[in-house]
Amino acid sequence: MKIAIVGMGLLGRLVALECLRQTGLDEELTIDCYNSQPPIENESIRHTQSVGRLAAGLLGPYTESWHFDEQTFEEAKLAISYWEALSEWLNAPKMFNSKGCLVACHVNDPGALPLFKQRMQGADQFSLLTKNELLKLEPSLCSFNGHLGLLSHEAQIKIPIFYRTSTDRLLNDSQVKWISKTVTAKDFSHLSKAYDWIIDCRGFAAKEHLKDLRGIRGDLIQMWAPDVKLSRPVRFLHPKHPIYIVPIGSQNYVIGTTEIESEDIEPIRARNLMDLLHTAYALHPAFAEARVQSIHHGLRPTLPSGKPDILDEGNRITANGLYRHGYLLGPGIAQQIVGMMGMNASKKAFFKPNTFKACETPH
Ligand SMILES: Cc1cc2nc3c(=O)[nH]c(=O)nc-3n(C[C@H](O)[C@H](O)[C@H](O)COP(=O)(O)OP(=O)(O)OC[C@H]3O[C@@H](n4cnc5c(N)ncnc54)[C@H](O)[C@@H]3O)c2cc1C
Repeated sequence: MKIAIVGMGLLGRLVALECLRQTGLDEELTIDCYNSQPPIENESIRHTQSVGRLAAGLLGPYTESWHFDEQTFEEAKLAISYWEALSEWLNAPKMFNSKGCLVACHVNDPGALPLFKQRMQGADQFSLLTKNELLKLEPSLCSFNGHLGLLSHEAQIKIPIFYRTSTDRLLNDSQVKWISKTVTAKDFSHLSKAYDWIIDCRGFAAKEHLKDLRGIRGDLIQMWAPDVKLSRPVRFLHPKHPIYIVPIGSQNYVIGTTEIESEDIEPIRARNLMDLLHTAYALHPAFAEARVQSIHHGLRPTLPSGKPDILDEGNRITANGLYRHGYLLGPGIAQQIVGMMGMNASKKAFFKPNTFKACETPH
């Protein structure tokens, strides 16, 4: 079976890895990975076209549950075990942080945590923390002047490790070829003839094909803060949008993200930058001495339903609309794509089908 994946950001990468995970060493399978950028980008995420690479990597099925219907919530919870298994398969245990997620609010906003709990699904997973519990879990936050709770069943993917190890795994596989090329609309008809399957995972760049796709902007800053010692992500409840402070390793943190209904790709507005910095400082005063390493923004590919979707067009499968849940819902979508290829292309049961339902995406 010859497969072309167009777009090796988050979803395309998950599809490629899932094919290899499920087929093992099947010599009949070849995967050509087309991407507008080379596989080894500079360690800095500054110039990336993949929003997956600049994401915070949060696996927050509970904190995000107010976005989800019941079925999507169940799918999102499964992502935690998926990523744990993937980190084992990639032999990268440090990529997966399963210490849970803290939820914080200001001292003068005591109603925020009860309201947050009331709105979420699976609220029994959320517990308020006493000072003693906090001292054991996250001693560096003991001087924080506010309220804190814990969601112990949430997790985090350390993005730099995931991209580094998955790139190595793909490049070292004789069945996989990386082709650094920007695929145009015209190229797709040639690809359709040359391959059994073409998987279109271009994220927001597929807007010319999916007319209802829109971008929702997110801003994020990366800081080096050696005096802050956090071992798990913190979600700070904020009147406009929650802001996350996420440890990504080597004393680095990402602080994000804004949620702006705009496809603007100009530099961050001072107001939004101040929101991010102010929240980090409110959580831990040592952020005032941190070094701002880089500032990023990206457009989350979003469909009108707010949910991801798969479009089945002959031997071309287009998947998109992961919005702010690429790490949570991407694995289910990737598994479904792999199942679709197995059902139609070969009698050999290459791939394990799964239950995520495909729906029609508007053109
Ligand atoms: C600031 C920010 C923080 C986020 N944090 C989280 C988080 O904590 N948890 C979470 O679950 N989600 C998060 N998200 C959302 C997540 O990043 C997206 O849902 C996800 O990355 C979308 O994946 P994708 O593969 O569709 O697109 P992308 O990851 O953007 O990948 C698209 C790929 O296609 C390539 N490409 C584009 N056009 C072409 C072409 N013509 N030819 C060849 N290649 C092409 C690009 O180079 C890129 O590699 C965040 C998003 C933002 C913006």
